Order: sequence, then C-alpha cells, then structure tokens
Amino acid sequence: MTDVDIVMQQSAAAFEAYKLVPAAGRAGFLEAIAEELEGLRESLVAIAGQETNLPPARLNGELTRTTNQLKLFASLIREGSWAEAVIDTANPATTPPRPDIRKVLLPVGPVVVFGASNFPFAFSTAGGDTASALAAGATVVIKGHPAHEATSLKVFGAIQAAISKTKMPEHTVQHVAAPGNNIGKDLVTHPLITGVGFTGSFQGGKALFNYANQRETPIPVFAEMSSVNPVVFLPDTLEKNAASLAQTFGGSVTLGMGQFCTNPGLLLAIRSKAQEQFAALLGEAIAQCAPQKMLHAGIHQAYEQGRSRLLSQQGVTLISESSQAPAEMEAFPALASVTAKDFLANHLLSEEVFGPSSLLIVCEDKEELKTVLKSLKGQLTTTVVGTEADVAANGDIIALQTTLAGRVILNAPPTGVEVCNAMVHGGPFPATTDARFTSVGTSAIKRWVRPVCFQGFTNAMLPDALKNENPSGIWRLVNGEFTKDAIN
Ligand code: NAP
Repeated sequence: MTDVDIVMQQSAAAFEAYKLVPAAGRAGFLEAIAEELEGLRESLVAIAGQETNLPPARLNGELTRTTNQLKLFASLIREGSWAEAVIDTANPATTPPRPDIRKVLLPVGPVVVFGASNFPFAFSTAGGDTASALAAGATVVIKGHPAHEATSLKVFGAIQAAISKTKMPEHTVQHVAAPGNNIGKDLVTHPLITGVGFTGSFQGGKALFNYANQRETPIPVFAEMSSVNPVVFLPDTLEKNAASLAQTFGGSVTLGMGQFCTNPGLLLAIRSKAQEQFAALLGEAIAQCAPQKMLHAGIHQAYEQGRSRLLSQQGVTLISESSQAPAEMEAFPALASVTAKDFLANHLLSEEVFGPSSLLIVCEDKEELKTVLKSLKGQLTTTVVGTEADVAANGDIIALQTTLAGRVILNAPPTGVEVCNAMVHGGPFPATTDARFTSVGTSAIKRWVRPVCFQGFTNAMLPDALKNENPSGIWRLVNGEFTKDAIN
C-alpha cells in the first residue's frame, strides 16, 4: 500500500463515522478549530510572514477572516435549512397514487483540498474549502502548498487538537505534503476520493480536472483558476471623477502586489480627453507604489515573464511603472495600454498576468467596447464604473457583463471578497471549472453534497431533516410550501 493509499483508506473509514455526527457536533468542531487557531495567532502570523513575505497586518486580517469563516459555517449548519429538505407526502388520490418522497443534501465522501499559495490561511489548510467540506459532513485530505509548508503543518496541528478536543474521528482531516506534482495526481485519481477543491494556476487546475475526468469513475473538481476581472469605465464618470477613480483603482491594481484572483487586469474605456487624463492619473498612482516581495520565487518569475511578454506585444505601450526599481523577488508594478483593435487581434493580451500590472484597452466607441467584452473568456468578477446617467445609458454593456462573470460590481474595485451568504466567487470557465458553484460564502458547502431522495421510508428511518416532527426546526418545502411546521 502506498502512503496515499493509507491516507485515503483512513479518510474513507473516518467518513463512515463523521457523516453520522449531528450538525451541532460538526459545528462545535469548526468552532474548536477557530479557537485553536486564535490561540496560535502570534506564531502563525510569524511563520506565515517568513514563508510568504506577506506583512503582519495582512496576515492578521486573513487569519481573522479564516476563523470567522469557520464560525459562519458552524452557524449555517446549526440552523440547518441549507440542506434543502423537500417533502412530498404520499397522495393516494392521484393517478397513479403518489408515494411519500423526501429529498435532502448529503455529504459525498472524502475530498481533497489543495492549499493556495496566495492565501496561506483563508484558502489553505483550514480555509474556505476545508471549512465548507467539514460543515457538509465530508472528510478532508489537505495537499499543503509547498510555498508555506510550515504554516500549513502548524494549522493542521490546530485542526488535530480540535479533533481530539471535540472527539471527532481521528482521521477526519489529514495532511499530505510532498514536492512535485505526483502526489496531487495520486490523490485526485485515487478511487476513494469523491471531490476536489483547488485554487491556483490554470495549468494546475486544468491538469487536475483532466485527471478527475479520466478516472474510471469521474469526480467533480472545483478549481478556481485564472481571471483578469475586466473593469469598464463609462464616459460621464471619467469626465467627473478621474482623479478619485485613479487613486481607487491604482490601489486595487497594486494591492498585495496584485496577488489576488480578483485583481483588475483589464481596464476598458472609450477614447476621449477624459479617458486620456484618467490614464495619466492612474499611471501616476501606480508609479507611486513601491515594489514589494512576492509570495515565492516561482510566482515572481511568472510575473516578470508575464509582464515582459505583455509589454513586448504588438501595439502595447507602457504608460508607467513604479518609480522605484525592484530588489530581489520584488514585483515591479506597471500600467500599459493598447487599442481595442490590437487587443482583439492578439489572444495573449487577455491572459492573466498574476501580479501588480494592468492593461488599459482604449476603444473607439461603445460598439467596439462591447466587441471586446464579447471576446473575453469567463471571469470571477467584472466591474462597471459610472454615474447614474452612465448606468442608465449602458444597460446593454451591463447585460453583457452579467453573462461574463460570477460577480458584477458597480462603482467599487473587485479586490476584496466578502465571506457572506450571498457571495459568488466563481464564474464561467476558465475562471472556474464549474460556474454553478462558489468557493467563498456559505453556498460553497453545496460543492460537497449530493441530493438523495428517500421514497416510501418510515419516519424513524429518515434523516432528521426529513422526519415528520422536524426536530431541528429547519425551513422545508412541504408539498410545495416553505414551512417550519411539523407534518401531522
Ligand atoms: P499552482 O502551480 O497551480 O499550484 C497549486 C497546487 O497545485 C500546488 O499544491 C501544486 O503542487 C498543485 N499542482 C499544480 N500543478 C499540478 C499538476 N499538474 N498535477 C498535480 N498537482 C499540481 O499555483 P501556485 O504555486 O500557487 O502559483 C503558480 C501560478 O498560479 C501563479 O504564478 C499564478 O499565475 C497562478 N495563481 C493564480 C491564483 C488565482 O487565484 N487565480 C492564485 C494563485 C496562483 P506542487 O507544487 O507540489 O506540484
């Protein structure tokens, strides 16, 4: 038996016990992980800082986001209505007579979570994928990201402490780490795994997606990959607000050295004097941003290559770059521009350059701007920036944007993803491999469950969510009506 085999057998055995733990028990477990992480805050932030070059303020904020996320999933499952219980009681009067049919969402089984390099806490070992899977009742095997292995192992230690304190099955969560791609492939192709969560590069996510689909029994891969998050600046707002928009969006392009999946990589505007002034002001804002170290050498190298490739393309002009030269492993913020005509002729220009650079696409008119939007692949976000008059006159542009991305934003930068019930952090391929799901917010739990229908069961045999007396007091759709009432 290989190491991966042993881990998977243990995870599958743990699943048989963990799926029976009542929601209150799973909620207590999630809260205990949050508490353990809080207890380790100082050392976690210190280790993560050494491994990722991220500053303490950012890491502290991210850790708080992570513990709040765990608590949010705890409250979601304590309340319980997320499980979408639907009940159609037997009706002997119909032809043919309808039997009693009841449906609820149940956990899929052991899943693999790939830690992301750019969020050592919130999208890694105890991040959103793990929290949502554990909330659903799935067991989790974590593939730690090699760029922050010590952080990942320390977070895993916190999870193990929580397992022991709350008496969860020992192997509810496991951690594997080994350099190279083989372990990832072995995990995804293992017959006992039932789903995969991933955040990272398009190449990595697509490779895992392909492995999963080539299995004898294919499984879903929820991969969040690449996005250039196009921002459309409408004419009236550029006339009126160019200076403040330049500050806001200059900050968004360079925030965290651009190492966010929601970084605004493409900016679209119609040619005008105001657009030219905006470009100059945005260039000044970006020039003021000092270079900082990136997460790891590979990401830095990929950024520098991507930036050079972008700037060497036909028709691309550098507007500005940071006024300070970068030191070793530091990113060099940059703003470039291109005409829509040149952009449309070169598919390389629509690819993600992961880091603090952005490309302004100057369109001759509204129709050309719409042609650019139509040419783009699926995105996590797209933003429209405009006055009331702009928005009223450009409903067609906003309609196009709605087909393009999972989240459409009005008059705010795309960086910053709220963890809440209504969030959609997903989008059409290649932003993700499955546009129907989100990886942030409480709906992320839906990735790790499947609907199961019970027909003709006696009350005692049914899961609690479907029992006549509704012991958890959840919302259910009973014979077509939403209610918390028991069934007599
Ligand atoms: P990555 O290279 O995609 O790696 C992420 C994880 O997937 C690692 O654990 C890696 O394991 C594994 N992996 C990658 N390719 C694999 C394959 N073919 N088979 C099996 N496992 C595989 O991402 P990264 O290291 O975080 O950063 C690299 C680039 O990804 C960045 O430069 C950036 O372009 C992009 N990125 C995008 C986002 C986003 O949110 N859009 C976030 C982070 C990074 P091993 O390394 O151990 O093989």
